[in-house]
Amino acid sequence: MAEKMLKFIDIPQRMPEKRDTDERRHDFNEIYREFDDQEARTQASRCSQCGIPFCQVHCPVQNNIPDWLRLTAEGRLEEAYAVSQATNNFPEICGRICPQDRLCEGNCVIEKGFHSVTIGSVEKYITDTAWEKGWVKPVTPAREREESVGIIGGGPAGLAAAEELRRRGYKVTVYDRHDRMGGLLIYGIPGFKLEKDVVMRRTRLLEEAGIELKSNFAVGRDAGLDELRQRHDAVLIATGVYKARDLELPGSGLGGVHQALDYLIAANRKGLGDKVPEFDSGLLDARGKHVVVIGGGDTAMDCVRTAIRQEAASVTCMYRRDRENMPGSMREVRNAEEEGVHFEWLSAPRALLGDDSISGVRAIRMRLSRPDSSGRQTPKPIPETDFTLRADMVIKALGFDPEDVPRLFGCPELEVTRWGTVKIDHRSMMTPLEGVFAAGDIVRGASLVVWGIRDGRDAAENIHKYLLSRRTLQAASA
Ligand code: FAD
Ligand code: SF4
Ligand code: SF4
Repeated sequence: MAEKMLKFIDIPQRMPEKRDTDERRHDFNEIYREFDDQEARTQASRCSQCGIPFCQVHCPVQNNIPDWLRLTAEGRLEEAYAVSQATNNFPEICGRICPQDRLCEGNCVIEKGFHSVTIGSVEKYITDTAWEKGWVKPVTPAREREESVGIIGGGPAGLAAAEELRRRGYKVTVYDRHDRMGGLLIYGIPGFKLEKDVVMRRTRLLEEAGIELKSNFAVGRDAGLDELRQRHDAVLIATGVYKARDLELPGSGLGGVHQALDYLIAANRKGLGDKVPEFDSGLLDARGKHVVVIGGGDTAMDCVRTAIRQEAASVTCMYRRDRENMPGSMREVRNAEEEGVHFEWLSAPRALLGDDSISGVRAIRMRLSRPDSSGRQTPKPIPETDFTLRADMVIKALGFDPEDVPRLFGCPELEVTRWGTVKIDHRSMMTPLEGVFAAGDIVRGASLVVWGIRDGRDAAENIHKYLLSRRTLQAASA
């Protein structure tokens, strides 16, 4: 077995090929081609099977990476899949969209001088193969249980919790205010990072497992939290964060200035074949426009690359720090640059210009201060460096805060932190309301899909413990 591995010295790192820029700029299909079987085996064999695998330590779901790499290198793919899905409900999704450079691959010990093992691409390959071969099956509980759990939010946190609770035999209902399940996987993240049928085959599988998926059901509108607590023995809040941060600038309310998620949802819906009046009217379509996206995170990268595919006349990303200090994944920045996005680093908007509609962005150059005691550099404006960019469409991608969940759910007893996230006891994941748990971005603040999965799994475990102990107490007092 050992001689099959440790090949990182002789075999160079190879990522799956990217489609040609000229080709991929014109569609919303994923940009990476698949590994073939031989390539996946060869790349997996570069792993040196560390005794203390730092890749695993830095994977939020603690995937047993060395084991599934070894099994892949040995051609034992079905076993590799069994190991990989044991810790991760959606491995093929993480393989596609985790920022691996900051997580598993960024901590691979052979990085120095040799480049890390391509963990994410192998994970994607294993699970895509498992789907092709029919190894991915709906969970079948060993026993059915009486109790039911209601989950508010069908994003990665809610869906991972749903699958884990169903595995333990609970009746599970997921409520989501959208017409499709998946949360940001379906309506936030564009198809060129994550094709939509990859998400939809997962939600179909959950239905096949007996999970009830109630879409078009907004808690706070169609039912209050109290009503759900009456219906279910436990409730999980996994509603994500959706209140867009705004620009406090002159001209922010001009026509043609949009929030990132409105823009991305319209583009995703269009791709899914829906009727989207705001897109069809041209309002949220970047075609032929000079587009400026303000912000430097993953959402901003998704917006600029969407605008490129909609055949904008020009696409500029404006960010107040430099390339090295982008919050977004460096891989996505490189992809955006290749696709023709222009970056205005170290610059910040001062005013949005126009009469009724946007015609330009006045901006100023920035510099970074010396690092403070925490190492962070603050951007400062450089006097008299104003400049103007032409713009017929401006997209604000400045991040998200939580909505006011206690007010929305008509439940003032729910507590929130000073950031507005739902307060939980971090050991039990329960809110101050008996039997009401919370997980995912609504607890952490805007985060990552893989952290949502981890939280959903942990919440399921905690809900299971709670229901077991409640049952024991009821039996004792009967
Ligand atoms: P969400 O995915 O937000 O799901 C919450 C669900 O709750 C939604 O479906 C919503 O409709 C529903 N809901 C909300 N309120 C109610 C209510 N009152 N009643 C019923 N349902 C309700 N992460 C990565 O790891 N990689 C990436 O490449 C990446 N790209 C991103 C790109 C964009 C544009 C954005 C915005 C985020 C991105 N993220 C990425 C972050 C990631 O998508 C989130 O961290 C993750 O989806 C959070 O999961 P969640 O289940 O907590 O919430
Ligand atoms: Fe890496 Fe994400 Fe997969 Fe973990 S889940 S191994 S962090 S790609
Ligand atoms: Fe293999 Fe790198 Fe993980 Fe070590 S850190 S087990 S070499 S993938």
